[in-house]
Amino acid sequence: MVKINDNFLKLPGSYLFSEVARRIAAYNAAHPEAEIIKLSIGDVTRPLVPAVTQAMHAAVDEMGTAEGFHGYGPEQGYEFLRQAIAQGDYASRGVDIQPNEIFVSDGAKSDCGNIGDIFGTDNIVAICDPVYPVYVDTNAMAGRAGEYQEELGRWSRLIYMPCVEANGFAPEPIRERADIIYICSPNNPTGAVMSREKLKAWVDYANANGSVILFDSAYEAFVASEDVPHTIFEIEGARTCAIEFRSFSKTAGFTGNRCAYTVVPMELERGGAKLNTLWNRRQCTKFNGVPYVVQRGAAAVYTPEGRAQIMANIGYYRENARIIREGLSAAGLTCFGGVDAPYIWLKTPDGVGSWDFFDQVLNRANVATTPGAGFGPSGESYIRLTAFGEAQATRTAVERVRNMFR
Ligand code: PLP
Repeated sequence: MVKINDNFLKLPGSYLFSEVARRIAAYNAAHPEAEIIKLSIGDVTRPLVPAVTQAMHAAVDEMGTAEGFHGYGPEQGYEFLRQAIAQGDYASRGVDIQPNEIFVSDGAKSDCGNIGDIFGTDNIVAICDPVYPVYVDTNAMAGRAGEYQEELGRWSRLIYMPCVEANGFAPEPIRERADIIYICSPNNPTGAVMSREKLKAWVDYANANGSVILFDSAYEAFVASEDVPHTIFEIEGARTCAIEFRSFSKTAGFTGNRCAYTVVPMELERGGAKLNTLWNRRQCTKFNGVPYVVQRGAAAVYTPEGRAQIMANIGYYRENARIIREGLSAAGLTCFGGVDAPYIWLKTPDGVGSWDFFDQVLNRANVATTPGAGFGPSGESYIRLTAFGEAQATRTAVERVRNMFR
């Protein structure tokens, strides 16, 4: 009889978002008149910008002609987009990334998960706590996480690096050896960013230990502070130890369009192999490229009009983040993040548990949030608020939560 990958059986149910949805539905059923505002959504709400839709319309028209038709494209992405990325996201910041180091894909989620294909199953993996759940679950599926310890809410073989107030929600390098290290900056869920010094310390650690840093920078477009790195490749030594994931999802509203990219530098070698070659082999075997029309839309983000238009949308979300952060701080609540990230990490008053505070805010303010405990043990007594909502609804939600504390 066929043997299944029984690592899947070890996975706990995807408790967080289904439980959030269940509680909202239950509250709605009991209070049909309540207008619940969701500060829990991780999806964007602003429409695609005109530069993108125009480029996509033109690409659709091209596809309808014999000369302009495109079938399977290069698995790594069209040269026009890889060039635009190399120039727009890297050369413009003084960072040398060549187009053949860029792999265009259908999402940072898939890339963060699929990258595990090129690494052995006996590697030791370090993750931040709290963390974007994809890193944990994909390692569990591959058999790198060990056993799930229900009572602790942890996997036995993963190294958890607590991201707490004392370290600015950004861990220092650890004492133990970790082979694969996930770093997400700007961070989901805490909204924290890694400073240049901390990133440098991690790069030095990885080069000294032969580790690889998987740097998820899906929220890079939200970096506003002068001194915060936009890419790990701004850090000296990163080309020999880091892989970077970026996405058009939050940058340009592509959550429903699907386009992202991963950078694997040519100098990055482990076990006598270039990781660029391995990732290329993996993608060519298992992936058939992002639609031409979508890649044309993504390339439009790098035109001057496209850039101005997407930055206006980012500005809209940034303003929401400011309203949440300042509004709730003025009400005496302790908020982190929301400056270089679309997430606000709110400390619950008096150490109330995440889920209890979630219920209080839902019941008394009719505002949905995301309990921090769902992102890992160190997320307990925090909730995550997002700035991706509609501006007026966000204002109303903040006012309602403030009223709870009057
Ligand atoms: N990485 C992080 C940290 C995220 O929070 C998300 C989406 O929420 C993603 C990656 C997924 O990006 P994509 O839409 O490109 O798959």
